[in-house]
Amino acid sequence: MIHKDVIVVGGGIAGLTAALSLAHRGRDVLLIEKNEHCGGLMSSFERDGFRFEAGARALVNAGLVRPLIKEFDLDIEILPNPITLGVEDRLLRIDGEQSLHLYADVLKDLYPESKDEVDRIIQAIQKIIEDMKVFYGVDNPLFTKEKKNLLTVAPSVVARMIRSIRTMYRISRMNTPFEDHLDVLSANQSLKDLIGQHFFRRTPVFFALSYFALYNDYVYPKGGVGALMQRLVEAVEARGGGIRHNTEIRAVDAQNKLLTDSTGNEYQYSKLIWAADLKALYSMTSDESIAKHAVGTFRAWKQALLAHKGAESVFSVFLAADLPPEFFHEKASGHVFYTPNRRGLGTVHTTELQALLQRWDSVQKEELYEWLERFCRYNTFEISIPVLRDPDAAPPRKTGIVISTLFDYVLTSRIRARGWYAEFKEKMEELFIMTLSATIYPNLKDRVLFSFSASPWSIYERVGSSEGSIVGWSFEEKIPVVTSMFNMGSSVKTALPDVYAAGKWVYSPAGGPTAIMTGRIAAKRCK
Ligand SMILES: Cc1cc2nc3c(=O)[nH]c(=O)nc-3n(C[C@H](O)[C@H](O)[C@H](O)COP(=O)(O)OP(=O)(O)OC[C@H]3O[C@@H](n4cnc5c(N)ncnc54)[C@H](O)[C@@H]3O)c2cc1C
Repeated sequence: MIHKDVIVVGGGIAGLTAALSLAHRGRDVLLIEKNEHCGGLMSSFERDGFRFEAGARALVNAGLVRPLIKEFDLDIEILPNPITLGVEDRLLRIDGEQSLHLYADVLKDLYPESKDEVDRIIQAIQKIIEDMKVFYGVDNPLFTKEKKNLLTVAPSVVARMIRSIRTMYRISRMNTPFEDHLDVLSANQSLKDLIGQHFFRRTPVFFALSYFALYNDYVYPKGGVGALMQRLVEAVEARGGGIRHNTEIRAVDAQNKLLTDSTGNEYQYSKLIWAADLKALYSMTSDESIAKHAVGTFRAWKQALLAHKGAESVFSVFLAADLPPEFFHEKASGHVFYTPNRRGLGTVHTTELQALLQRWDSVQKEELYEWLERFCRYNTFEISIPVLRDPDAAPPRKTGIVISTLFDYVLTSRIRARGWYAEFKEKMEELFIMTLSATIYPNLKDRVLFSFSASPWSIYERVGSSEGSIVGWSFEEKIPVVTSMFNMGSSVKTALPDVYAAGKWVYSPAGGPTAIMTGRIAAKRCK
């Protein structure tokens, strides 16, 4: 049996951040990861000389990523990651805050009948950009090397705190679904779709409207997002921390502080940080392994968590094109949010999808394909072209592209159950490629060297994320974890003694930045 002071389960960005913080403090830490490589939803892979991101296409700095790199002396170059927003043939390269006004012009051009409504929406975004500056505009002073000299940082920490508290208060009141907020600002459904349809359904209004500020905050590590994860792995090991790959934890004995992996090996911990799926933690901890006085609380937490579902997932198409990077650069930058048709999704991904699922047993394949065609025609795509950010990401004069949209996990599971999965994936690849070929990248379809895809099911299988979710809980239901910035510190608590949680399930809304934050908070709790 292996005995460790702290064990971290899950080698995504949250687990790696936690393990590194602990190893840096000289703690005896072991990180256990089920896959061959760490990184989870932040990883890159190579096929035939083309590099692709399997998960997040880039990182939002959020005042956290650069300080993390600096604090732990990670040897990695951070490259710019310019964003383009596009609708039909209007493509706007985002270049600082002033681009918001150019974006307004694009919207007014597209919807001349809704000019006043565009102004109202842009004003709402502008207000939020001011709030975002408080959080993300400067590197978080608590995450830089200088923090060791308290006197140096104290004034900036205090000033930041005061501004942050005021802003947090305002933000905490902006948690209504953005669809409802947009209804107040505009009656033009297409305009509202265009602003909102690449967010999860019922995303809190602050999170959705704040995204314009984040477009200026994306960065791309040289070598890919996975290269940064690899530097984190190396940094953990360089500080004496252990990392065990290909090891899946299957059982937790909370009273005896024991973990068991899929081959029956046991690991004893003093403290545990669970940086993997939160439902899995509660499912694999048996009631018998909980002290009698704590069983009630444990069951209540378990029930609450298991009753809720994760947010929508993504469908991604990876393709290699026999076209030089310049072909794509002439159109847009290497990270694009593109809507091929101004009409917008309307009810395609909401009530129409629900209706399809409700009468699923009688749905014919042709009917599903007809729905998929409309889903792709009117949707918004995230397009990532690594070679436009890092010239080493593809063979000379060729280009790798990742194209994705949000996609429903339940629908994917039903398609699998009907035996249509392989054909469905091919259909989606064809639809994605045809849609972009007819719009932003003319004739792309004739230059595809190879393509393959990943569905919400792939995400579930690879990282064990419930419902294939990429950011934790669905916003369509009451969220069973901390959602207030005021309480982020307590988000890492669990119902198990000496067990803390970190990552995308513990605080909502989640994503890379909160995974880093909660990883650090959990590490701090392991005194
Ligand atoms: C396509 C895509 C685009 C995205 N874009 C953005 C973006 O623009 N901005 C943003 O902020 N976020 C984005 N995200 C979300 C972001 O990537 C994730 O929220 C974040 O990476 C989650 O990190 P994590 O460490 O919490 O979880 P994960 O990355 O899921 O890591 C969990 C780890 O635990 C391991 N594991 C699971 N179960 C076990 C077990 N039983 N035993 C051992 N190991 C186990 C898994 O293999 C995995 O490595 C995106 C995600 C995707 C997929």
